Amino acid sequence: VREFDVIRAFSARFPAPPEAVIEPAGDDCAVVRLGGETWVAAADMLVSGRHFEDWAPPEDVGYKAVAANVSDVAAMGGIPRFVLVSGGAPDPEVVLRCMEGVLEACREFEVYPLGGDTTGADALVVDVAILGNLETEPILRSGARPGHLLAVTGELGASAAGLIALQAGGRKPARLVARHLRPRPRVAVGRAAARLGAGAMIDLSDGLASDVRHLCDRSGVGCRIDLDRLPVADDTRAYLLSRVREPRLVAATGGEDYELLLAAPEDVIGTIREETEVPLTVVGEVTPGSQPEFALGGRVVANLAGWDHF
Ligand SMILES: [Mg+2]
Repeated sequence: VREFDVIRAFSARFPAPPEAVIEPAGDDCAVVRLGGETWVAAADMLVSGRHFEDWAPPEDVGYKAVAANVSDVAAMGGIPRFVLVSGGAPDPEVVLRCMEGVLEACREFEVYPLGGDTTGADALVVDVAILGNLETEPILRSGARPGHLLAVTGELGASAAGLIALQAGGRKPARLVARHLRPRPRVAVGRAAARLGAGAMIDLSDGLASDVRHLCDRSGVGCRIDLDRLPVADDTRAYLLSRVREPRLVAATGGEDYELLLAAPEDVIGTIREETEVPLTVVGEVTPGSQPEFALGGRVVANLAGWDHF
């Protein structure tokens, strides 16, 4: 996947981290210890023609850029606090509309916009950098151990179904489109998982098939995932079937659900489930192997891939 080759090539050139850096680039957020407090930091960029097309109102693009960053803080078990936002477009009016969505998301997720930059650009682009803090130890991608169960929050595939609807034109199921354009990151569940002792966590931005591979790679483990257990809502399933798409495969590869995938002992999963209103569905287990394995209808599925941003 080319995006990850680029990230690997350039992060390999980073100098040795100073003492304050607890966890350098490579997780959902980097982690730094400052003045006795632990902070997490990340950035994420959305570009017209790559991440969205003309069907996305600029307000939704701005909203989603903040939401995607909030989701990365959630994946560490952190509390989102501050953003810096930069954006550009050919038309200043479009930038202003995008920033409306940014501010709406800031209110919604209780983050404060510290500032940023704006410029003319050939196409709408928005970049958000986020800071969050931690009241617990961070939950890293590297803490999955054989015997842990793998669980996902909420539902999968709705965002991809919404994207398919936006691209197809015609009938657009409003709930699915909203799941794509205005994702709801799982901050409360992430914080509960960190407090209650989850082993590893990642947010599902590129798609379960791709994101679980990051978790396995960083933890040095394998896993088995049963695609029949993926939480796919009835309207998602019905819409995907109407487009002649296999709902479980779309749910596994579609991306941009901004749900959390966590690895934890069974009793911890049970406690997290009791503490939150968001459904938590066990979809598989961590194994001593080195690769994720996926099964569909009892048969192994090979070559499940996620979304490549290049
Ligand atoms: Mg992430």
